[in-house]
Amino acid sequence: MVEQARRLRPLGLATGTSGNLSERGTGGMWITPSGIDYDQLQPEDIVFVDDAGRWQHALAPSSEWRMHQAVYQARPEAGAVVHGHPTYATVLAIRGLEIPPLHYMIAAAGGPTIRCAPYHTYGTAELSAAAVAALDGRKACLLANHGLLAFERDLERAMWLAREVETLAQQYVMCLPLGGPVLLDEAEIARVVEKFAHYGQRAR
Ligand code: 13P
Ligand code: ZN
Repeated sequence: MVEQARRLRPLGLATGTSGNLSERGTGGMWITPSGIDYDQLQPEDIVFVDDAGRWQHALAPSSEWRMHQAVYQARPEAGAVVHGHPTYATVLAIRGLEIPPLHYMIAAAGGPTIRCAPYHTYGTAELSAAAVAALDGRKACLLANHGLLAFERDLERAMWLAREVETLAQQYVMCLPLGGPVLLDEAEIARVVEKFAHYGQRAR
């Protein structure tokens, strides 16, 4: 987790101490502490928050622990959650825009769009509920005037997906002054979602 947290800034997924990540554990989750510089982060700083929202650690967990917990509760397939404020995804989120099917890679997030959850104050149960709703049938969403949220079955994949979403966001922002993207249709994205289930070096 510390290794992956240290990648948040070089990957452009977080600035300063923004962003956080977690992994599902037994009876709770392991999550980065609040407001800690990732370069200073040590393994013993990772906080265990149980399913009742309690922790016993000198450091407070990420202020977004409720949002991470809500994802694990709503999505049994989630093994890890990544949150950050990458520039292009956040630009779209500031405009309250969802990402449309402008590239087949959007299928990596589970469907033809990546929705934008309405704004709520960071760290609140309201934000958690809005994020879970925007994640319906998806593994990533934008958070209005805030950033992005992604989950996957493990942390490496969740980091990869978060970075892919930021790339899609950058492509979208760059297409807008060119007259907007030429979009793929939903049937094509559905085909790619199915193809991705068998993508890569898998036994036939
Ligand atoms: P933490 O430093 O508490 O994890 O919060 C950062 C953040 O991105 C809040 O939305
Ligand atoms: Zn945030």
